[in-house]
Amino acid sequence: MSSHIDAILAAAIRHCQEEIIPNVDSWNESARWPRSASDAAGAAGLTGLYAPKEWGGQGLSLGDGIQVYEQLGKGDGAYAFALSMHNICTFATCGYGTEGFKQKWARDLASGRKLANFALTEPQSGSDAGNMYSRAVVKDGKWTINGKKAWVSLAGEADVYLTVVKTSDAPGHKDMAMIAIPKDTPGVSFGPLYDTPSYNFLPLAEMYLDNVVVPEENIILPIGQGLQGALMAIDIARTSIAAGCCGLIESALDTALSYAKNRKMFKGKNLDLDGIQWMLGDVATDLEASRLLYRAAANALGTPEGPLMAAHAKKFVPDAAVRAANTCTQVMGGSGLLAQYGMDRLSRLSQMLRIVDGTTEISRVVIGRALQKRAEGLPDLPVPKGYGE
Ligand SMILES: Cc1cc2nc3c(=O)[nH]c(=O)nc-3n(C[C@H](O)[C@H](O)[C@H](O)COP(=O)(O)OP(=O)(O)OC[C@H]3O[C@@H](n4cnc5c(N)ncnc54)[C@H](O)[C@@H]3O)c2cc1C
Repeated sequence: MSSHIDAILAAAIRHCQEEIIPNVDSWNESARWPRSASDAAGAAGLTGLYAPKEWGGQGLSLGDGIQVYEQLGKGDGAYAFALSMHNICTFATCGYGTEGFKQKWARDLASGRKLANFALTEPQSGSDAGNMYSRAVVKDGKWTINGKKAWVSLAGEADVYLTVVKTSDAPGHKDMAMIAIPKDTPGVSFGPLYDTPSYNFLPLAEMYLDNVVVPEENIILPIGQGLQGALMAIDIARTSIAAGCCGLIESALDTALSYAKNRKMFKGKNLDLDGIQWMLGDVATDLEASRLLYRAAANALGTPEGPLMAAHAKKFVPDAAVRAANTCTQVMGGSGLLAQYGMDRLSRLSQMLRIVDGTTEISRVVIGRALQKRAEGLPDLPVPKGYGE
């Protein structure tokens, strides 16, 4: 590991300890995005992880940079998720944006002075992302966009939204593109914030696009590459979520251990009981396996194995996080349900991380298709008479 990633991971650990852990409960109470914390993340180099140095970024590989979310996830999975989405948008801007767009946005995004997010989901198209209605009419170098996006993270807080739209009435995804829509463009507005108690500080809402006009300069992925590009971004997001979940598992495990070593019962301590050690041992094994899996997936991104490895990580690790939060709550008995220990928050967060950026079931679909393809390359085993008809 190079010293640069070591320094960034140390900055992430500090950010978690100084900004997230002491403040996350009050963030949730205030139901406001902690802009001062994301500004501090920017100053610490955590908002331009994969952006090249020439744009003020850290120039890290995906394989290295994704480890940051493991550290941030120890503090809060939703905060780690939002920063990961911003970092992917910054990566897309620097890698695929036009020169004019980069000149206007890349430095501000890499530094965290401005925030970005993706807008793909619509009310009728979540898992079924191809069933999108938002539509751009392209004329004289201008894109006029109408539509509605749903579940937009950092809604109203991000300064720019990398938005996937259709550009014709043709069915399918061949006419889709991704274009950047600045928040202050006339015609952009947001619905009421969703009420999500365990991560209330992350603004989530619908985004309305009413005759929004943006120049061609804002194209991130041209017509024909919109959905494919968004899915590539989602592979990075899935792996980042798996990394954040490892932080969450570690946080649940350490809370349970810190409690169980002091809880007196049956003339000893809770942690002296074999059954309790086995329960927590399962969590520890899941943590080790999850870490290996997300790191392997992160290193596979950008290779032909990337989508499948990201699906394995997104399928396995958030489920392991849900199990960890439940098991660690159980180990603590009634105390596990008290707000002061934070286990309830971890349970809700882990469940949220199973859904966002492609559900567990969608990962299963990706893995299932890969298995069908693999089967095609295998020799035929004869099936009993009548079984193949
Ligand atoms: C906290 C949070 C933040 C988000 N932020 C963003 C954001 O910033 N930008 C954005 O674009 N989107 C965002 N999303 C949306 C997210 O990506 C979608 O919620 C997700 O893709 C699932 O879509 P859905 O909620 O419409 O569920 P649905 O698609 O309605 O799925 C319902 C159920 O059906 C299951 N299912 C679907 N297909 C199959 C199948 N083939 N076989 C079996 N079961 C299946 C699903 O797994 C799920 O259990 C966010 C979501 C959350 C919860």
